[in-house]
Amino acid sequence: MSELRTQCIEHAKRDIQDCLVIGAGINGAVAAAALAGKGAKVTVIDKADFASFTSQESSNLAWGGIKYLENYEFPLVWGLCKSRNQLMDAYPGQVREIRFFTSIAKGFRKPRVLIYLGALLYWFMGRCRTRPPRLLSVARIRKEAPRVNTAPLAGGLEYSDCYFVENDTRFAFSFIRKVLQKGCNAINYMELVSGEWKNGHWECALRDPISGEAFSLRAKTLVNAAGPYTDRINAMLRIDSPFKHIFSKGAHIIVRQITKTNHVLTFFASDGRLFFMIPMGNRTCIGTTDTRVDNEVAEPSNDDVEFLLQNANTLLKLDQPLTKNDVIAQRCGVRPLVVKKEANVGNSEWTALSRKHEIDVHPERHLCSIYGGKLTDCINVGEEVTEIIESFGVHMFQSLESWYGEPSIQKRNRFESECRKHQLDGEQIDRLWRRYGKEAFQCLEKIRFSPALAEKTMGGLLRAELHLMAEREMVVCLDDLLRRRTRLALTEHRASLRCDPGLAEAAKILFGKNAEAEIERYFGQPLRS
Ligand SMILES: Cc1cc2nc3c(=O)[nH]c(=O)nc-3n(C[C@H](O)[C@H](O)[C@H](O)COP(=O)(O)OP(=O)(O)OC[C@H]3O[C@@H](n4cnc5c(N)ncnc54)[C@H](O)[C@@H]3O)c2cc1C
Repeated sequence: MSELRTQCIEHAKRDIQDCLVIGAGINGAVAAAALAGKGAKVTVIDKADFASFTSQESSNLAWGGIKYLENYEFPLVWGLCKSRNQLMDAYPGQVREIRFFTSIAKGFRKPRVLIYLGALLYWFMGRCRTRPPRLLSVARIRKEAPRVNTAPLAGGLEYSDCYFVENDTRFAFSFIRKVLQKGCNAINYMELVSGEWKNGHWECALRDPISGEAFSLRAKTLVNAAGPYTDRINAMLRIDSPFKHIFSKGAHIIVRQITKTNHVLTFFASDGRLFFMIPMGNRTCIGTTDTRVDNEVAEPSNDDVEFLLQNANTLLKLDQPLTKNDVIAQRCGVRPLVVKKEANVGNSEWTALSRKHEIDVHPERHLCSIYGGKLTDCINVGEEVTEIIESFGVHMFQSLESWYGEPSIQKRNRFESECRKHQLDGEQIDRLWRRYGKEAFQCLEKIRFSPALAEKTMGGLLRAELHLMAEREMVVCLDDLLRRRTRLALTEHRASLRCDPGLAEAAKILFGKNAEAEIERYFGQPLRS
């Protein structure tokens, strides 16, 4: 088990915390990073791995929500565009502009020119910070995106938005690292099982689901950031909120590369909703679906996969149509959508529900709960939560250093020139910086003392990266490594991961004497069909 994790548990138990954040998806991670960055003593826990629930199942887009213009949600789009721009500025390595190449079929519910005008409005609402939109004729689509089936098309348009280059979960994890860098605690595989407001603070019972051990922790304030589980946690803590979540299931499949790496292909699918083909390294991620469900846990059904394959095959001209055998991996989660508690949302209106977030505040019990929201809006969530926690009496300070963002371009340049001395190539330099930020210097430090650590091992990872992860990233099981610290489980077939000659060494570095057992446990699991 990770030494860092054990240390965090010991620290968290020892002193009363200014704040306990429940849930380490994007919302819990940013809340904890913002609080830690402003001087609060904070602990963030997750009952599974960091960002292993909704925040690992998104479409990986940091976007202003162009589609919400159709529901006239102008304030939401205005705010999301601002948040997207903020992410683009603060995370030039991780959040990048990408062109959305959109096809519009003949007889579509809105004329092509009107959609183009919508894209123009969207560009203005995005403060013209991206490249402007372009109207596309069928001939141009044929030339620039030869894979698109142009037979049913009236034309199209191209506009810009942003995407998370690495992925959503790794982005969320960067906030967990910020928490740890500030000397605060982040603990994965630690579940809140009960909590009581007693004598002006929270007495919480936690349980480690791996060892079965129980802990108690005291905190002056609580942030409920349990995503789809927010209502359950509030019920457990006897908090009566004016909001509740309803759930919309969204599935994606990952297949061989069928799009250019600098384009998202966008269509309106057979259900009339936007449908994306998004680059994911050397693969393409296709999605998504939107089905109302009642449960927090969602699995992609056969119908979901069929829907995605069928639409992809209709919208593209492929030499070989995609079949189930082409699916390398699947992603599936529920969007927690916030509504008023008394709302009775009918099936017809629910797809038009807003994606905005709400924070429910209970000053009398020093607790707030985050409802709804998007990855794109995460910085605002962090700022709002710190204001609320400060209003409960926790002392904060104005740090000169921002609590979010990548290190400066000067540091990036210094990193690059040091990497060149060790013969690292451009792709490796980019990846190390994007994934580890200033901690990437630690990789170089390791390589300087032991040049063999610059060699590639499992999935092209450098040996030094694995050592860094073992020390700093609380990798508890192989799934944490393959699905979240890296995206190998999404881009590589399970069988090729099993045969990777570097697997045994990677497991040894991360799990020591438990390496073999962990490999067997992971690959012994049945494949997701
Ligand atoms: C299909 C799909 C596509 C999406 N696409 C986009 C997109 O492109 N762009 C965008 O901005 N947004 C997108 N979203 C929305 C975005 O992913 C979510 O809004 C966001 O991830 C929610 O984060 P969260 O932290 O609230 O919840 P979660 O990520 O679910 O985190 C909650 C955490 O709480 C933990 N937890 C629960 N109970 C306990 C307990 N008792 N003790 C400890 N921990 C607990 C859970 O394990 C979980 O990790 C998409 C969502 C879906 C489903």
